Amino acid sequence: MLDLFRIVAAVLVVAIHIAPFELISGNVDLAFTYILGRIAVPFFLMVTGYFVLGEYLTEEGSRFGSNRFEKIKRHLMKLLKIYMFSAALYLPVGIYAGNYSGAGIGDIIRMLLFDGTFYHLWYFPACIVGIILVCGLNEVFRKVTVQKKLAGILAVSSFLYLIGLLGDSWYGMVSGSSFIAGFYDVVFSVSSYTRNGIFMAPVFLILGVIAGNVRLAGRKKIQYGILAALAFFIMEAEGFVLHKLAFCRHDSMYLLLPAVMYFLFALLRTGKKEYRELRFISTWIYILHPAMIIVVRFIVKLLSRFGTDAGFMVENPLALYGLVCAFSVLAAADMLFIRDMKKKRQEEKAQEALKAATSRAWIEVSLEALEKNVNTLRELLPDDTDLMPAVKANAYGHGAVSVAQKLQELHVNAFCVATALEGVELRKNGITGEILILGYTSAADFHFLTEFSLSQTIVDKEYAEELNDYNGIIHVHIGADTGMHRLGISSENVDGVCEVFSMKNLVVDGMFTHLSASDDMSEEGKRYTEEQIAKFYRLVSCLKERGINIPKLHLLASYGAVNYSRYGEDYARVGILLYGVHSNRACADECGVSFSPVLSLKARVSVVRELKAGECAGYGMDYCARTDTKIAVLTIGYADGLPRELSEGKGSVLIHGARAEIIGRICMDQTLVDVSGIKDVRAGDVAVIIGTSGTEQISALDIAEEADTITNEVLSRFGNRLTRIVV
Ligand SMILES: *Cc1c(COP(=O)(O)O)cnc(C)c1O
Repeated sequence: MLDLFRIVAAVLVVAIHIAPFELISGNVDLAFTYILGRIAVPFFLMVTGYFVLGEYLTEEGSRFGSNRFEKIKRHLMKLLKIYMFSAALYLPVGIYAGNYSGAGIGDIIRMLLFDGTFYHLWYFPACIVGIILVCGLNEVFRKVTVQKKLAGILAVSSFLYLIGLLGDSWYGMVSGSSFIAGFYDVVFSVSSYTRNGIFMAPVFLILGVIAGNVRLAGRKKIQYGILAALAFFIMEAEGFVLHKLAFCRHDSMYLLLPAVMYFLFALLRTGKKEYRELRFISTWIYILHPAMIIVVRFIVKLLSRFGTDAGFMVENPLALYGLVCAFSVLAAADMLFIRDMKKKRQEEKAQEALKAATSRAWIEVSLEALEKNVNTLRELLPDDTDLMPAVKANAYGHGAVSVAQKLQELHVNAFCVATALEGVELRKNGITGEILILGYTSAADFHFLTEFSLSQTIVDKEYAEELNDYNGIIHVHIGADTGMHRLGISSENVDGVCEVFSMKNLVVDGMFTHLSASDDMSEEGKRYTEEQIAKFYRLVSCLKERGINIPKLHLLASYGAVNYSRYGEDYARVGILLYGVHSNRACADECGVSFSPVLSLKARVSVVRELKAGECAGYGMDYCARTDTKIAVLTIGYADGLPRELSEGKGSVLIHGARAEIIGRICMDQTLVDVSGIKDVRAGDVAVIIGTSGTEQISALDIAEEADTITNEVLSRFGNRLTRIVV
């Protein structure tokens, strides 16, 4: 309904610039154009508030980090682009009309920031300034609950609206007082009206968020309908009285307008269908209608030049209104046509790029599955435990950059990697959250830590001293060894850990331990893990006794998150399960939670050939056809990470939804499969190595089992030669 109403609002804006009922009755024009019509712009502001600011304003606390402005920034850039395009479009008209003659720097700033460079374009700077103001208020109120925050922003912006109101249709109230009028003189020297981004836009942006989150059902809908109508009639009365009293300096703002809009918006925010084209068309009706007024007048002039008297069309404002509306809709539809053409061309290009990327062997990464797994893991863990996904080893073969970028979009703000260079790669690709290096970084690479703000794991006490000797402040997490005996200071060495805290050049951001058997739910396994956990907490309490508080604690990896979620603490360093895959069959069978595989692996058929009975294929005569056999050659080999253990019938792939057994020895770059039972296999066909085809499925776990290893190894060994595409 919001999408549909945008067209109504756009047509109301056109009315404001034509006054269609002027000749019929001044009162009708007042009621329709200058009072009802004033709901249009607030409506557009509310839609912007609802769609653009809603998530940001209603998000609770810590999971929403430095990327919270991403969507808003994108929208501001879009507004700025449309504004600049429109300003350029109307520049010749404005020059012709003499709008800019004699304008100084101050006038230009006033025009660009408040008034708009052409009469209807003030909306764009108002929207931009309003959004920035509301965001600023939100940051000020950041620490309190969402409810209080919204109330605070609403209070401030309502106050601004009241100031604006007194400079607009209620101006008669204050114009008599020289002191207050003096204040408004200052305001009007900066902005010609108070209906701008400071006084008018904020209240409607925030009301859009508030009204948009009201859920109306049954009787409440009727109540809101009655209240909307009531508020509207009072606003009509207000408008009439103010106009008859000649109070209005301008009439964009009424006292009742926010109330009308609140109820109307809540009523309109129903229905499930989207009409995206209407959003586009309404915007362009808004932008283009002044141009269409000029076009219609020009056509009429032209017609009369050729002896056709069409003058009534411009002399009768109602006729002019109809024509301008029709022309504006057509012009906007043209813009839509142009946009769609552009889109189509882009899609064709993307299609070609995809073809190139899938020409040999490739990995498909499902961001949807990744998001599902993020949600599943978040549900599993305590509320205040954040994810610190392990994106080491190219995100277990999935492609670290695109995975981390998606996670960042999902408000993940901490990552762990194995090496400094892995961290650098993420930083260079726009990852802004904390990045912890879990492995050893040698002194030669310490400069990366400071240059790219990477956090380093303390792998033992001597290493801490070495880090401390580097000239520069380094952020670290202390690794505490509780039984893995790989990296970390022994959890019994409380003095050693304390010393790290006192090192001048180290900032200790956290302390963690790694559980070596959290996937082993046998009695023995559980005992070992509980012992590790107890050792970790013993160390923490010893440190507390000495007055040391550690900012962040973390113990859990994937199976810790599943089996020991109550020890979530600040972070869970989840890896394999985030990618939707179990390490081995036993884990899969024991785990009660289901995850969605993120990765599929595919290759092409390059050649199909017939073997006569007795003919061999591949290296070493390991495979010889017993009967006449049809085989296909695939464009993937062990150099791509396909385990060679799958050779000679141990593994299979899917072609056209059917299984084709791997025959002979897997080669470095190619693999042979038996396709005797599959019809119409041709060069160029897709072979699925991991993933689904028709009703058949091969999982990473199947491959790991056949290769006698764990999925972690299979996935992380997928090589650079594979292209990675995001689906
Ligand atoms: C790799 C790694 C993880 C992630 O482990 P998964 O089992 O894949 O979740 C967590 N912590 C440390 C220290 C790691 O090395």
